[in-house]
Amino acid sequence: MSQQASEQVYSHYIGGEWHDGAGEETFESVNPATKESLGEFQRGTPEDVQTALDAAEEAKEEWRDLSYVNRAEYLWDIYHELRERTDELGEVITKECGKEISEGKADVVEAAHMVEWAAGNARHPHGDLVPSEIPSKDAYMRRKPRGIIGCITPWNFPVAIPFWHMALALVEGNTVVWKPAEQTPWCGQIIAEMFEDAGIPDGVFNMVQGFGDAGNAIVEDERVDTVLFTGSSEVGHKIAGKVGGEPGKLAACEMGGKNGIVVTENADLDVAVHSAIMSSFKTTGQRCVSSERLIVHEDVYDEFKERYVATAKEVSVGDPLDENTFMGPMVNEEQVEKFGKYNQLAKDEGANVLVDREELDDDEIPDDHEKGFWVGPFVYEIDYSPDLRCIHEEVFGPHVALMSYSGDIEEAVEIHNDTPYGLAGAIISEDYRQVNYFRDNAEIGLAYGNLPCIGAEVQLPFGGVKKSGNGYPSAREAIEAVTERTAWTLNN
Ligand code: NAP
Repeated sequence: MSQQASEQVYSHYIGGEWHDGAGEETFESVNPATKESLGEFQRGTPEDVQTALDAAEEAKEEWRDLSYVNRAEYLWDIYHELRERTDELGEVITKECGKEISEGKADVVEAAHMVEWAAGNARHPHGDLVPSEIPSKDAYMRRKPRGIIGCITPWNFPVAIPFWHMALALVEGNTVVWKPAEQTPWCGQIIAEMFEDAGIPDGVFNMVQGFGDAGNAIVEDERVDTVLFTGSSEVGHKIAGKVGGEPGKLAACEMGGKNGIVVTENADLDVAVHSAIMSSFKTTGQRCVSSERLIVHEDVYDEFKERYVATAKEVSVGDPLDENTFMGPMVNEEQVEKFGKYNQLAKDEGANVLVDREELDDDEIPDDHEKGFWVGPFVYEIDYSPDLRCIHEEVFGPHVALMSYSGDIEEAVEIHNDTPYGLAGAIISEDYRQVNYFRDNAEIGLAYGNLPCIGAEVQLPFGGVKKSGNGYPSAREAIEAVTERTAWTLNN
């Protein structure tokens, strides 16, 4: 299904087969730039999840008993396919979730990096050999698979995040049941086809299309040993709460953010403006690390504001398939409404609006795309106060608050830390003491220095603190969520 979907209704992939679901309902994948239908998909039911779990259960033992290197072979095939089909898959991502084409391709590249890292891991040391208290004893820690891993993913990285969850889980010897986001079933379909083409044994990888009720069925089934979740804090906290009550079961949840950039009095303002523009508006502000708060020292505030606002007024919004477009549409009507609601809230809370492109002029919308979910940047300045909702709640859109501070780096970091979230943040400063202070005191899992507040590398942990993170479902640290440890001692 590399081309636009046809009349067919696409189904689930369970036990090595395309599986018609138990339910009658279907749903559509919609192109957010045009509102055109991209295809029709079966809506999975909790019963379909049960069937997928039956298949995962049956395949568990044989898969676990293969060597790491054998398991990794299937992933290497997928790695090569991701590399060969980057442009084509990038286009599918762009059509389905509206992110700009360069970002669509980057999504595929990030998936390939994760698969490469996970498959390569099969030839790296696992566990630790440690000195024993008794000379004749060998003592070491071994890892083994947990069993069945349930993966629930969001729409905004519809290819990268599923592989961030599944690649390591599979190489480590677990079977998987995955539910893609309801907005991006086409990407789900293509990933399932890749596993089918790679010839992964039946039941090792299973995909059920659908909505939150299917996700919930994964969370609630006692056969699932670990739930890996990436998405909103609202849903993630519910999942963590449910799983937390079940002994022996784990949930690793990566969630939302209200990320900030601190610009100090001795920042390079070229770097500061570039970083803030990229972090606020790329992918239309719809990435977990997007920055919705800019905390700028009063000495450079006016100059920064002038340059940032001038650029925000000009950023091009348009057809995401056009390489020159900076910002595509939002993903759906619900997100547009949420954006509008928070823009109004900011006004009600006393914002001085600097850029209001919430409703674009007709000539800013590309021809034949009038029906898309178009918005532009909304930027305001506001005096920092701990009581304001607009600077504390995640919007997940191009909604940005500028705030000034007058004191030292401690004050900036205090404002920066005053959100319930703790995902990402950046500092722009030429003073290494300020940079180090931010690194050591910002309450976040992903800290960037003199860079946009964007980016991930699979060989680093990816996750947040506070309301943003609870365990690591992705990248390097996910090994803790997909394996169990045995402390092994042997007397020689
Ligand atoms: P979401 O609404 O939380 O959905 C995420 C996934 O959970 C979807 O597959 C969703 O299904 C499913 N789901 C919904 N309700 C569920 C339930 N009760 N039980 C089990 N599963 C359920 O998030 P989203 O709108 O797709 O993504 C945007 C959010 O994700 C933002 O908050 C963003 O910050 C966050 N995010 C975080 C990271 C990170 O690494 N920290 C990365 C990307 C995105 P449906 O599709 O049917 O709703």
